Amino acid sequence: MTRLPRPQFQQLGVIGCGLIGGSFALAMKRAGLVKRVVGYSKSPSTTELAKKMGVIDVAAESALLAVSGSDLVLLAVPVAATEATLRAIRHLVAPGTLYMDVGSTKADVAQAAQRVLGDLSAHFVPVHPIAGKEHSGVQHADPLLFQGRQVVLTPLPENDHAQVQRAAATWAALGCKVLRMTPENHDAAYAAVSHLPHLLAYAYMQAVMRQPSGREYMELAGSGFRDFTRIAGGDAAIWRDILMANREEVLHQAQRFRMSLDRLEGLLRTQDAPALEALLKPISDTRNAWAPAFTTGDEGEPSSKF
Ligand code: NAP
Repeated sequence: MTRLPRPQFQQLGVIGCGLIGGSFALAMKRAGLVKRVVGYSKSPSTTELAKKMGVIDVAAESALLAVSGSDLVLLAVPVAATEATLRAIRHLVAPGTLYMDVGSTKADVAQAAQRVLGDLSAHFVPVHPIAGKEHSGVQHADPLLFQGRQVVLTPLPENDHAQVQRAAATWAALGCKVLRMTPENHDAAYAAVSHLPHLLAYAYMQAVMRQPSGREYMELAGSGFRDFTRIAGGDAAIWRDILMANREEVLHQAQRFRMSLDRLEGLLRTQDAPALEALLKPISDTRNAWAPAFTTGDEGEPSSKF
């Protein structure tokens, strides 16, 4: 496996010092890939806390000031805030600096970058790290969050090849397996394996809590309920943005899910136990054979998927 050259940055500018932005800053420091981190966030209390925690070295008063003097810039804001953030910094966007985001949806981010940055979008590489927690906020930032996880790069057609390589090398140096795909393929895939499951977890949780005895039932619940509803604890504003940004693909997946549920319900109605078991068996086998695609922290050449 070819190793990517180890990147080195003087100054990282983080815009959005929350869970992902804070974890990236801590991971970059831990790996010795950056000398100084400057952070900007919407609330001054967030940057204050980030500074106290050692996540950032300097709190910037604006997004533009976080970009000033940085040779690496990470946008780690909710996806709906991406375009406004790019507009706020575009006067300082210049070749030589690598710009990345970490948004969970990619087609909207790619289009925003092309609209706002024009030719300078050559230096903006859209990224989605497949790592996170259901609790957001810098207080949950973790330097090991990305280690052994996949990260998806969705390069723009106008991207400078060297910038894409630099982005890949940076995430690989944090212990990630780097994949590349188009923004559209990314959004279709993650609607199926991430966005719809979140929608369903919220819907299921609501269905339980809204029924008259729902709270009592929850008192009786065990690990199945805990596992199934864990992602319903995700930040409401972050998930509002993700579901809205990728709504077409999520609606498409919801339709497929409804067909599947209808089929199972039909077998319950007709009390067809053998057919129910025959339907459940391959599902159970497939789930039991599934394993997360990447669990070690090896560095490696980015690979393609889709
Ligand atoms: P988070 O912990 O809530 O962090 C987001 C941060 O951005 C907060 O500190 C927030 O506000 C700040 N912010 C919001 N609007 C801003 C603006 N206009 N300008 C500057 N800062 C702004 O959320 P997160 O989980 O880190 O998510 C950040 C991004 O990562 C999202 O795009 C999400 O889709 C993506 N992502 C999340 C996960 C996950 O599991 N959480 C995984 C992969 C990717 P304050 O400054 O007021 O605190």
